[in-house]
Amino acid sequence: MSHPSRDFDVIVVGARVAGTAAAIMLARSRRRVLLLDKAAFPSDTISTHIVLSGGTQVLGRIGALERLERAGGFRFASMRTLGPGFDFKAPLYRPGEDLRGLCLGREKMDAEMVALARSFDTVTFRDRLRVTDLVIEDGAVAGVRCEDSAGSSEFRAPLVVGADGIRSTVAAIAERRLGAFKRSDVPCARAYYYAYYEGVGAARLGDELITEFEASPGAGNLVCRCEDGRVVAAAAFDANEMRSFRTDLAGNLRRHLDESIAVGALLADGSMVGKVRSSGLLLNTYRDPVADGALLLGDSGLHVDPLFGQGHSMALISAEIACSLAPGWFSARSGNSISARTMDPFRTKRDEVLMPHFRASERASRELTLSPTTLAAYRAASREQWAADEMVRFAQMAPDARFPSFRFARLMAQQARAA
Ligand SMILES: Cc1cc2nc3c(=O)[nH]c(=O)nc-3n(C[C@H](O)[C@H](O)[C@H](O)COP(=O)(O)OP(=O)(O)OC[C@H]3O[C@@H](n4cnc5c(N)ncnc54)[C@H](O)[C@@H]3O)c2cc1C
Repeated sequence: MSHPSRDFDVIVVGARVAGTAAAIMLARSRRRVLLLDKAAFPSDTISTHIVLSGGTQVLGRIGALERLERAGGFRFASMRTLGPGFDFKAPLYRPGEDLRGLCLGREKMDAEMVALARSFDTVTFRDRLRVTDLVIEDGAVAGVRCEDSAGSSEFRAPLVVGADGIRSTVAAIAERRLGAFKRSDVPCARAYYYAYYEGVGAARLGDELITEFEASPGAGNLVCRCEDGRVVAAAAFDANEMRSFRTDLAGNLRRHLDESIAVGALLADGSMVGKVRSSGLLLNTYRDPVADGALLLGDSGLHVDPLFGQGHSMALISAEIACSLAPGWFSARSGNSISARTMDPFRTKRDEVLMPHFRASERASRELTLSPTTLAAYRAASREQWAADEMVRFAQMAPDARFPSFRFARLMAQQARAA
């Protein structure tokens, strides 16, 4: 085993959306960061790649957005949502306000984020390095134990950030050994499959993100342009149908999209390229994100059903909240590790900002049909453009988006009385 190193302020485990964003922000405040991942980069991961406005705002602030655009990231400039009895659309770009989203395949996006993080001289990047255990001293996380092809190694730092995804090793080990990072889970009622299409004409699909619900119970679709002229299309359906869906992935995806309200027709002149991908069954997971010496960011701390494409934005926003508070944590530190109590404001702020979105998605994720309240809200958004604007701002996790406003609730009430 190599000698323990105390040369880092922070060890970030996981070098995709949450981990790279955190490393970039920590490096900007001159923290010495070890950013590591068991994967080799560039590499893909199972995920479509909608980054909502809330996420692109963070990417802009950390200096990554232009780079991702240059790498081919498609900026969607409006959002349309449709389903039984509703169809509304709102622009994401107005003079003085740019709320456009981003859609760039994860292989390219993650590679660009890693490259930006590595450009800071205070960031040490290691891929193909797997965390297998945590160093625990005096009841606190004090570092990580790792393995790679050269053998095992140990690294220490006052703060270990678990940005290692849904099946977080950092969270699982700290939970088992310290009783930290308490979790609660709600299973996702839907399964998700996606594929890429080529040759989809601009006359059919322009610069919009389209989400569609309930051509049949549990059905949902998402479609958007991404890099290299391709289109990414995702299908959601009852998770109980996953086994039969798998018997003919391409055929069943085609059939699902053909039976959609509008998405299938948008793809009619395109052809599927590559394979159909899926994540298998998923959970909505809330974890208490702080422990003595460690913190969880992104999916490891808050994993939400992909139905509304919020995961990247939640990861980016949680990383930004943590990194805005972190300078105070280092100056307040008394022992070897930063205490959970010191990091408590992160939990408070993360939950204040993200839980309204998480809870709304979790409610929709439990059931195969949209609730009467959600349907009523979507139908209200279809009636008035200001209501569509408000709904889309919330769906995009735009800064300062509150939903529903008094005016929106009144519109829903009027609609209910008229029905
Ligand atoms: C089918 C599907 C579609 C989705 N579509 C969207 C979408 O359109 N928009 C959206 O916003 N979100 C979407 N999501 C969610 C999104 O993918 C996640 O929210 C996002 O990837 C979270 O980023 P992260 O950095 O927290 O974790 P991850 O991207 O999961 O990265 C975790 C990293 O940690 C590394 N790691 C894990 N364990 C270890 C270890 N022991 N040692 C070292 N490294 C380790 C992994 O190799 C990985 O690289 C989708 C998810 C799925 C499943």
